[in-house]
Amino acid sequence: MNPLYVYTDELLKYRFNDTHPFNQMRLKLTTDLLTDAGFLNDEDIVVPRIATDDELALVHTKEYIEAVRAAGHGDLTAEESAKYGLDSEDTPSFINMHEKCAALVGATLTAVDLVMTGQTDKALSLAGGLHHGFSGKASGFCVYNDTAIACEYIAKKYGKKVLYIDTDAHHGDGVQWTFYSRNDVVTYSIHETGRYLFPGTGSATERGTEEGFGYTVNLPIDAFTEDDSFLEVFKESLERAIQTFEPDVILSQNGVDAHFRDPMTHLSLTSKSYEEIPRFVKDMADKYTGGKWIAVGGGGYNIWQVVPRMWSQIWLAMKNIDAPAGPLPEAFIERYKMKCKVDFPVLWEDTLDDFTEIPRRVEITEKNKTTLERVLMYLDQ
Ligand SMILES: [Zn+2]
Repeated sequence: MNPLYVYTDELLKYRFNDTHPFNQMRLKLTTDLLTDAGFLNDEDIVVPRIATDDELALVHTKEYIEAVRAAGHGDLTAEESAKYGLDSEDTPSFINMHEKCAALVGATLTAVDLVMTGQTDKALSLAGGLHHGFSGKASGFCVYNDTAIACEYIAKKYGKKVLYIDTDAHHGDGVQWTFYSRNDVVTYSIHETGRYLFPGTGSATERGTEEGFGYTVNLPIDAFTEDDSFLEVFKESLERAIQTFEPDVILSQNGVDAHFRDPMTHLSLTSKSYEEIPRFVKDMADKYTGGKWIAVGGGGYNIWQVVPRMWSQIWLAMKNIDAPAGPLPEAFIERYKMKCKVDFPVLWEDTLDDFTEIPRRVEITEKNKTTLERVLMYLDQ
C-alpha cells in the first residue's frame, strides 16, 4: 500500500504571532523539500477535513471549546482567558483560534481514518502532535490536543487498542493524563527529564492509576543525551512495550526538538537519530500491528536548520526509502536560502562542525541505562 500525506496550506494558519517560536512554516518547508527531491507527488497528498465540535469533545470540555471559540472572536474576558490558559506568553489567543485549531485536529483525524478504514496502512499529518493540551486548558503552545483526540477516536469509533509513542523532547503530558486511568490506550513517552524542562512531569514512576496502572510508560533521559544512548534505550524499551501491550495500531508523535540545534531543550541528537526513529517505528508497525501506523509532528523550533530535513525522514521511512545523503535539491535551496537568516543547510545529513561533545557522555549513558532497566522491570510486572 502507498502511504498518504495529509496536507493543505490552510494548516499554516495555526499561528500565535510573528515572534512566537511555534511556526508552522516548517510544514511548508518540509512539504517543499520532499516535493523538490521527488519523494512526494500530488497523488500522495490528501486534503484534510475539519474536526467537529463532537470530535473535539472526545477529550475537551464543552466549556473549554466555547471559551476557545469566544477567545478567537475577541469575546472572552481577561479573567476567563486566564482560567483556560489562553492568556499566557506560551499560548496566547489569536484570531479565529477555534477554527484554525479544529483544522489541525481534522488533519490528524483524516490520517487516522485513512489507516483505520484500510485506504492505506501508513499516514502522516505533520500539522498535529500538540501533546500538551489538557481537557479544559491550553498549555505549552497547544490549544486542542489532536493526539489525545486521535487516540480516543481510535478507541471509541474503531474499538482498537492504540499505542501512542511520543519522542518529542518534552514529556507528552496532555496525552498521558487523558488516559492515565485507562487500559485501552497505552502511552509511551521518551523525553528529557523534567528536572530543567517544561512540563516537569514524566518520571518513570508515573505508570497510570486504577485500571490504567501499568499502561503509562515514561522514559526520562538525561540532559545532553546523544544518539547512541538515546537509540539504545528507545529501541529496547519500545519493543518491550509493544510485546507487553500488543496494540492494534501505532500513533506516533514526532517532535524533533531533541536535536542538538533546537533552541528550547538540552538534548544532543543529530540526524542519525531522526533517520533511525521513524524507521524503527515502521519496523515495529510491520512486525506487530499489521503495518498500521499514523504519524504526526510535534515540537521543533529550528525551522530552517532542523525540522524540514528531520521530518522528511518520517515520510521516507513510510515509503521504505533509505535516508538520503549528500546535497539537498537545488530547487529547494534556491527557493529558500535567501529567506533564511541563519546558515542554510545544504546536505541531508547533519554536519557536526557546531556540535559540542559532552565530557559527561559515559555518565549520561550509564544513567539512561539505569532508567531503562527500571522501565523494563515495570513492563515485566
Ligand atoms: Zn517539545
